[in-house]
Amino acid sequence: MDWTAAARSDRGRRRPKNEDAYLARPDRGVFAVADGMGGHPAGDVASRIAIETVRSHLEGHRPDAEPDDAADRVRAAIEAANRAICERGRQDRDKAGMGTTLTVLAVARSGECLAIGHIGDSRAYRLRGGRIEQLTVDHTWVQQQVELGLLPPDQAADHPFGSVLTRALGTLDEVEVDVVVHSVESDDLLLLCSDGLTTHLDDADLAALLTEPDASLDDLADRAVAEANLRGGTDNITLILVRAAA
Ligand code: CA
Repeated sequence: MDWTAAARSDRGRRRPKNEDAYLARPDRGVFAVADGMGGHPAGDVASRIAIETVRSHLEGHRPDAEPDDAADRVRAAIEAANRAICERGRQDRDKAGMGTTLTVLAVARSGECLAIGHIGDSRAYRLRGGRIEQLTVDHTWVQQQVELGLLPPDQAADHPFGSVLTRALGTLDEVEVDVVVHSVESDDLLLLCSDGLTTHLDDADLAALLTEPDASLDDLADRAVAEANLRGGTDNITLILVRAAA
């Protein structure tokens, strides 16, 4: 299976700088999005360390790896990114307390499977046959309340505490990483994104926008950024689109 990808990262319309970072390596089958935490010191430094750590840890990754090996590597890369950010925070007092989300996708078994690991609220989605499915579960206070049955799901999207994370990199020396393995079919479209996209576009919006027939991945990525900005652009917007083609 071959992979094509398009990636965009945009400051949005409200934030003074872009604290998101990403990695797109179709040749290695490795993709990642990190969202430095706004309001924390040096969120952009944290997201860049996360992406650099993923880059170096997965440099040896091959798309024909077995799914379990890919999953182990993704987990190890995210744990290493956490240690690197915590260490930097200890060395440089200006940056103490910096944090970031991190979502990593690694292709396995020559494109039949993929491993996804994440911490925080940067998401992975799969579009298949016009249907969209979120492959990650946000590590947010709001999601936790929904799971506990304390908040109706329909009130989660616009909740005022929507950006409060229950897990992030850089906050504790040990982090619990969620890693899952999914199957891939030809023509699946995968999306990794920061919350600057999903704040403005819900699942139905994304499904409609990303299933536009005859549009290239670059066109779709541009349209997604434009639409999020049109609806306010309240946060940095980063997305990677990956298409599997037999
Ligand atoms: Ca964000």
